[in-house]
Amino acid sequence: MSKQEELYKKYIRPSLVQARDRKNPITYEEFHISAEDKLLGVNKTYFIYTFGCQGNVADSEIFEGILNAASFTLSNDPSLADIIILNTCAIRESAEDRVWGELGRLKKYKLSNPNLLLVLAGCMSQEEATITKVLKTYPHVDIILGTHNINKILDYIKNAYFNKERVVEVFSSSNSVISSLPKTRPSSFKAYINIMYGCDEFCTYCIVPYTRGKERSLLKESILEEINALIKQGCLEIVLLGQNVNAYGKDCYSNYSFGNLLEDIALTNIPRIRFTTSHPHDLDLLTIQIMSKYPNIMPHFHLPVQSGSSNILLKMNRHYTKEDYISKVKLLKQYIPTISITTDIIVGFSYETESDFEDTLSLVKEVEFEGAYTFMYSKREGTPAARFDNQVDASVSKERLLRLNELTNELTLKANKKYDGKIVEVLVEGKASKGNNILYGYSKNYKLVNFEGDESLIGKLVNVKINKIRTWFLLGELSNG
Ligand code: SF4
Repeated sequence: MSKQEELYKKYIRPSLVQARDRKNPITYEEFHISAEDKLLGVNKTYFIYTFGCQGNVADSEIFEGILNAASFTLSNDPSLADIIILNTCAIRESAEDRVWGELGRLKKYKLSNPNLLLVLAGCMSQEEATITKVLKTYPHVDIILGTHNINKILDYIKNAYFNKERVVEVFSSSNSVISSLPKTRPSSFKAYINIMYGCDEFCTYCIVPYTRGKERSLLKESILEEINALIKQGCLEIVLLGQNVNAYGKDCYSNYSFGNLLEDIALTNIPRIRFTTSHPHDLDLLTIQIMSKYPNIMPHFHLPVQSGSSNILLKMNRHYTKEDYISKVKLLKQYIPTISITTDIIVGFSYETESDFEDTLSLVKEVEFEGAYTFMYSKREGTPAARFDNQVDASVSKERLLRLNELTNELTLKANKKYDGKIVEVLVEGKASKGNNILYGYSKNYKLVNFEGDESLIGKLVNVKINKIRTWFLLGELSNG
């Protein structure tokens, strides 16, 4: 056995094959920090790079919470930090490339500070190929952990500090939910709340069911407890998170679903409730009815369609047809006439013909999406679609993406024009990067709104009269109306 093979053997590495195995029931564990660990980070600082989705943002809040509980201090300068965590995203090749680039750049900090601990976490760590590449070519990475063992970060730091050993521990799945993990939230008025982890959908292009594991819902009592505590602290908006929130509860309740959870949360009277991400296959009538009943559930629905061709949807394993999708959109519009609907679309998926793509364009026109995240398909190793033979030529995908973007931008602008002259309620989130005294926030329909105002308004709900329309944002002025 070569030295390299010996090294590989002693690490706990992920396996995409094992990650697909989902038999065991969910258990709940409590998080505990010892008196000794509470002092581990005295006089030490950390910095976190967060890549990818809101799920990663929420995980970084947990990293912060645990490190702060151990007396580490957050630094805003990576060159001065004692620990740097890269919380990575594996959804697309471009996301991974950004991480590889950052890892290369961080080498210089390691050279100037040999005591620096460099930690690779998040979805990329769950891929066997990532571990192999890091072990071979990135010797300056000290700790690799996955999405299932964030709670063990302090143990890994101790191992790396005291045993001077590289730590690699990535589990392929987890059947437990660690409740009571500490979190440090950057905002007191807006909070992300995980209601479930993992995904059981297995869209053929997606690596997430392997990197995030089986669907595991948090118990409703623990979610409501967290929300009630946030309300007491003055929180105005919560965003419920899950890879497929519409499947909430399927793994642990026989008669309680996402719609029921939404209603219980609406009854807490928190002013604003949002959620992401949804799956059309699991979106049910109850959820739509509850949304229409409670004005504190925001009238915005992000419903990824991915393709408007039923043939391609089948190849993607999305479990719905173009017609199914359109009928759910009709229900949403019927029950909630003020709703704005946004989506995700992949172009150039394997086997996509010009006629499939035209189906996508026709669906986009019919639904009149108010916004769309559009992507060129990128192959993810380990997914079924990576083995599909009819890959679409990159130049064809690019040309389709341009045509699609032209249409979606046109529709976004058209939808934004509806707000011209209207007064909208905005939760003020911060100062806009451009312009003095320009603040930004989001309307109920999740429109980005810029307006002039004093910083003291950050964290408050204000009324803004819209007077200029742009494709990507609305401009307005404070209104007493
Ligand atoms: S629903 Fe599909 S695209 Fe979304 S996380 Fe699950 S497998 Fe991936």
